[in-house]
Parts: sequence; structure tokens; C-alpha cells
Amino acid sequence: MNQEVRTRFAPSPTGYLHLGGLRTALYTYLLAKKHGGKFILRIEDTDQEREVPGAVELIYKSMRQAGLAYDEGPDVGGDYGPYIQTQRRDIYPKYAWDLVERGGAYCCFCTKEELDEQRREAEAKGETWKYNKKCLHNVPLAEAKRRIAAGEPYVIRQNVPTEGKAGFDDLLYGHVEVDCSTLDDNVLIKADGLPTYNFANVVDDHLMAITHVTRGTEYLSSAPKYNLLYEAFGWQPPLYLHLPAVMVESVLMDKTTRQPILDENGNTQPVVRKLSKRYGDPSFEDLLEQGYLKEAIINFIALLGWAPKGTNEEFFSLDDLVRVFDESGVNKSPSIFNMEKLTWFNAEYIRRMTPDAYRVAATPWLSRVLDPARTDFARLCELLQGRTEVFSQLPGMVDFLAEMPEFSPDLYVNKKSKTTPEIAKQALLFVQPILKEITDWTEGTLHDIVMAAIPASGMKNGQVLWPLRIAITGRAATPGGAFEMAYLLGREETLRRLQKAIDDLA
Ligand code: GLU
Repeated sequence: MNQEVRTRFAPSPTGYLHLGGLRTALYTYLLAKKHGGKFILRIEDTDQEREVPGAVELIYKSMRQAGLAYDEGPDVGGDYGPYIQTQRRDIYPKYAWDLVERGGAYCCFCTKEELDEQRREAEAKGETWKYNKKCLHNVPLAEAKRRIAAGEPYVIRQNVPTEGKAGFDDLLYGHVEVDCSTLDDNVLIKADGLPTYNFANVVDDHLMAITHVTRGTEYLSSAPKYNLLYEAFGWQPPLYLHLPAVMVESVLMDKTTRQPILDENGNTQPVVRKLSKRYGDPSFEDLLEQGYLKEAIINFIALLGWAPKGTNEEFFSLDDLVRVFDESGVNKSPSIFNMEKLTWFNAEYIRRMTPDAYRVAATPWLSRVLDPARTDFARLCELLQGRTEVFSQLPGMVDFLAEMPEFSPDLYVNKKSKTTPEIAKQALLFVQPILKEITDWTEGTLHDIVMAAIPASGMKNGQVLWPLRIAITGRAATPGGAFEMAYLLGREETLRRLQKAIDDLA
């Protein structure tokens, strides 16, 4: 391909970057990078009513966090700017008027009331409403210009042929074609002078020399109409890759309360629906906040609807993806988002971190409950790394080190080692004086001295070690055994907890 590949991610600033959006951004980035081309960020903010304050900055931030560096964009510049559509507002009317002159568009003065009336009439006849081209037929261009000069509000509509077919070629869906008679004369320029998405995407993709358009399949049915615009202008249309939605298996829920809607038997009702923030599905930001690694999220997202050819490998860094990505590996059927699978990826990525990288990532989470000056974080991290699935679990995994939890004597019961609360008490009374004697409070010394002493007690190793660990942690599951926990707690705290446990068993 001798033409430089230029792709664009074109989000509307309507909220958080949801995972479907992130996947579109990722595939768009990969497509450009694989061909050594340019990846562009464009902000599509012409629907000002839907704009959420702060959303633009969030897009920049999320893209940076994801590592999807764009070559051109609002905050990095480029030769094809501005990259925010409202800042391009003067560009669009010029092109719309060019279309009007060519007969591909016309001015429409119908008021909202008139249009509502037409819609009602159509619906009464059981027809789907589409604009009836009244202004095309009744208002000659010279009259339109006079009315506009006199200050009358107007919009510019696309003049879609009433017969014939409109179509386009999609890299995934092949040739897509519709009857023109099914298409509506969309508004291209609104009464406020701003373009609609329907117009701006075409003009901008052309002016920004975009070669590949990647976006969700929700645009599949409008794309023939966009192609009519390319034809009317005499422009070369881009290549299209429409991506199937990311779905999630869920239960039917009320949009507002987010509570399940039960059937008549009081059961939840399974549904497969689009991933949506509205129902509480996590955004990219949410996942980062919950302690998922961006590398794991990117890897997981890449495989949501795409598979590499000729390999079963599942682990790909962003650079690996650039090398192996191929648009022909994109799957036509919608993909299912599976949180457990993401968590599995995350745990694998955590396991593959260097100890130093793990410690850096884990420290802020551990510091929420532990004082780094009092606990050996380096040792704790060694114990935790293989057990961490998501960083947000860490505070709950180690909080017992900061404060001894209340626990029931039943916790001493262990079927495997046949430990009962009675045996536990015996074990604790046995081990207490031994521990008190130890001053070199290292895991090695604790281990060697206690293990050497157990045989003389007549108890099994487990019958001593299990109660000891329970007594000083109050937890059935801890990130390590009795000696590791005793070391992390320190001599004084271990002995204090042990005494309390013995008193509680009295
Ligand atoms: N602004 C559109 C959206 O956020 C983008 C569609 C496109 O990429 O053309 O859905």
C-alpha cells in the first residue's frame, strides 16, 4: 500500500470511555501502527446537549493510560486540525452549501410543529416517518437564500435519491446495500449552524485523509448514506471496518434502580445485552481504580472479538499486538465480556511482574491499611504476589496485620490435622514459652526452633502451626504460614495476640 494509512478514533464526549469504546480505539490504533501509519484522535462534540463536562479531558487521560498514543489530536496538534469538531464549525457549512449547489442537499424551513404533524400522520397510517422532501420541491434555491438572508431559521438536508440502491464495502461485512427508498433525508447542518454527526464524519474523514474508518456496527445501516455523500462530492470513500458490539451476560434490570426485574415466579431473567455504564458495567477508569493492570485490560480487550491467526498464544503486549494484529481476525459475531476471564488475565500479569514492579504497584494499596514503617512490605509483597488477582483485594488480604480481628473458637477446628479448640489451647500453651525465648525474630529462627520442639509435645505439626496462625491472625486464609505471619507482626505483637488468644480460650 503506497498511500499512508491514517485511522481515527472519534469519540463523543458523553461520559467515561467504556470498554467497547476502548476496544474500538485499540483496533483503530493497531490498524494504523501495523501499517506504519498514523493514528488520530478526533473529538466529535457537535451534539452539545449530550456533552458531559470533563469528558474530553477524561478521553485524553484514558488514552494515555491505555498507552494508545495518537500521532495527531486536539492536545498534541497535527497538520489536519483542529481535531475538535466544534472548533471546525466554520468548515462544514461551506461543504454543505457546495452540496446544495450540486443538488445533493437542500435547505429546509419546516418547523418542529410541522414535522411533528407529518410524523403523526405517518404513524397514523402505520408508516415509518421520513421527511417528505417538501422544501426540496416547494422552495427554489433563490427563495431559500432570500429567506435565510431575512433571518429565517433553517436546516440543510441530504437529498437522498428516491430510487436505486446505496451501498458500500466493509472489510468485515463485505458489500452492504440498501434501497434508497428506505433512507431518510438526514439533517446535515442544524439550525444552530453545527453539523450533525452524519455530515461531520464524512467531511472530517475526507479532510483528515482518513484511509480506514473503524467504528461500531450501529453505524452499519447509515454508512450507505454516507457513501452517497462521498459520491455527491466526488470523493474517494475510506475503507470501512464496522465492529460488532461487546455484549455481557446479565439479568434484566431496571435502568433507573439497577435492580433486577423479576418474572412472575420471582426469578431473575437472563439477558445478553450491550456492555453499558448505565447498568453499572465498569469503564476503563473503573477497572484501573479497582486495581486491574492496563496491560491485562488491553490484552483482554484485544481478544474480545479478535483472534490471532495460527497460534494459541493468549498473552500479548501492545507491541506484540501491533505485530500480530490483522483485521481479518476480527469476528463477525458479538463478543461476550467476561469479568472472570479479565480477572484471570490480571492475575497472570501480576504473576509475571518483576518483584520490584509488583512492590511499586502494591504499595499504595497496602498503605491504605498498613504502616510501611512498621511492616516489612518487601517480604509481604513476596508472599502476596502469587496470590493477588486484583490489587484492590490487597487491603482485605492484609488488614488483620494492622488490627487483630474478632474470631470464633470454631476457627481452630481443622479436620485434616484433627485440631479442636481444646487441642488448640494445649498447642498455644506449649508454643508460648518457646516463642518468648526467641529474640532473633526471623522466619528462619522461628521455624527451626518451633519445628525442633514440636515432636516432644506429642502433637502433630499441623496441630501446633494451625492454632498458632489462627491465634495471631484470626483468619483461616492468610498470605503465608504461622512463621511468616509472626515475622510480619513482629515479636511484641505476636506475643500480645498469643496471650489474648490463650485468655479467650480459658
Ligand atoms: N462519535 C461517534 C461515536 O462516539 C463515532 C463514530 C465514528 O467513529 O464514526 O459513536
